[in-house]
Amino acid sequence: MSAAWELRDKNILLLESEQRFGGRVASERRGKYWLNWGGHVYSGANSATDRLLRSVGVEASSVPGAVTGLAMNGKVLLDGRVETYPFRMPMSWKSRLAILKAGAKVRLAVMKYGKVVSPRPGEDFRQHQERIYNYKNDRTFTDYVGQLPEDADAIFRPTVSRSAGDPEEVSAGAGIGYFHLVWDKGEGLSRNIHGGPSTLINTIAESLGDKVQSGATVESVIQQPNSVLVTYRQNGKLFKEEARYAILATPAPVTKKVAANIDPEIAEALGKIKYGPYVSAAFLTDENQPEIWDDAYAIATPKRSFNVFFNMSNLVRSWEEQRGKGSSIMTFSPATLARKLIDKSDDEIIETYLRDIEEIFPGFRQKVVEAQVRKFPLGLAYCFPGRAKLQKALTKPAGRLFLAGDYLGTLYTETAIKTGYEAAREILRKL
Ligand SMILES: Cc1cc2nc3c(=O)[nH]c(=O)nc-3n(C[C@H](O)[C@H](O)[C@H](O)COP(=O)(O)OP(=O)(O)OC[C@H]3O[C@@H](n4cnc5c(N)ncnc54)[C@H](O)[C@@H]3O)c2cc1C
Repeated sequence: MSAAWELRDKNILLLESEQRFGGRVASERRGKYWLNWGGHVYSGANSATDRLLRSVGVEASSVPGAVTGLAMNGKVLLDGRVETYPFRMPMSWKSRLAILKAGAKVRLAVMKYGKVVSPRPGEDFRQHQERIYNYKNDRTFTDYVGQLPEDADAIFRPTVSRSAGDPEEVSAGAGIGYFHLVWDKGEGLSRNIHGGPSTLINTIAESLGDKVQSGATVESVIQQPNSVLVTYRQNGKLFKEEARYAILATPAPVTKKVAANIDPEIAEALGKIKYGPYVSAAFLTDENQPEIWDDAYAIATPKRSFNVFFNMSNLVRSWEEQRGKGSSIMTFSPATLARKLIDKSDDEIIETYLRDIEEIFPGFRQKVVEAQVRKFPLGLAYCFPGRAKLQKALTKPAGRLFLAGDYLGTLYTETAIKTGYEAAREILRKL
């Protein structure tokens, strides 16, 4: 979408296999609220996301409220420094000490990570990302912090596995990077899009009219001497389009499959990208009184079927003079949690989530007026030990083909938007 927006004055065609645009960005409006299932926090000032939002005319604001809430062992903590949590949460002294030790190590590493990842003068996006991938890319997060007692492990696991890999799969650097993202409200992913993230997607799609086509599944993208031949299926019919250039903004396995004659070194690297699954649910509630979650945005929920409870209504809440009726809540389950749920029916998943939420916030179930699940088998491409070595091949020129997508970098929607934009700029230069 970001590439199409940049090329909107050219003769372009965007092909989307689903009926809905947006892929892993998925929200729907419900009155003043929005239900959300995918990407929800976005990059702030000086990012590609910010530039796109401004250019399209869609607004975003910093997420108000606590982002480091914790609900565990029968207690909910929403304020105070995270370092104090182990002492305020019921658990053994053995776990507390283990958390302190591992926590100090991660804190220091997060500070170092902040320095390592800040862009250097003259460095381009690709070099910058390669440097981030390289940071502690030789071992897993579990190898780095060591085996922890149950409660200590439970505290770290929800944050690391938000990358869609378990701490045993994700590289140490990427695990540390996730704490950086969560703790660093200023520079990380920290903004909500007004009206929900799909507002951005839908506004772009609407303004591009016939240039964007849904229900159009690309089967192959073949590079020819002077053009690219794109074959796609729509409404059961096969179509062929010849273009000067093609941007492949699909997840890595799809890109590898359709770009049948791409440089074999790039194809090999695409095949090595590892994805973890995600399952998420959105709940609309109808309470009339204030709730404990009103002042929070994110509450980590270790040892549950989902690992974070998000209050998607807290931006709207921050604009109100009087607390309005209802809330919009999202829960999500990455990695192993998702693997346990993904083959279950939507009703079973909702029931599993509600049972857990009910134990944290008794009475929640009675307030729910709508609940919907989404499953993402390719939830996120996580950074595993050795991932850094693939970056050179993935970012090398590919003739008339350009790769875009979140798997090419470490900042999720920001990487997707940035790589789409860069691909479009490169094509404009060539044209
Ligand atoms: C539950 C969840 C929460 C998340 N939270 C955040 C967050 O808070 N912040 C953040 O920055 N990121 C978050 N992410 C990640 C973020 O959503 C993704 O990084 C981003 O949306 C990826 O964008 P993309 O364009 O690279 O890929 P996608 O969104 O996957 O887009 C690829 C598109 O290609 C289409 N497609 C696939 N095959 C074909 C084909 N053969 N022909 C035509 N079209 C095809 C797909 O349908 C899809 O629309 C989250 C992800 C999940 C699952």
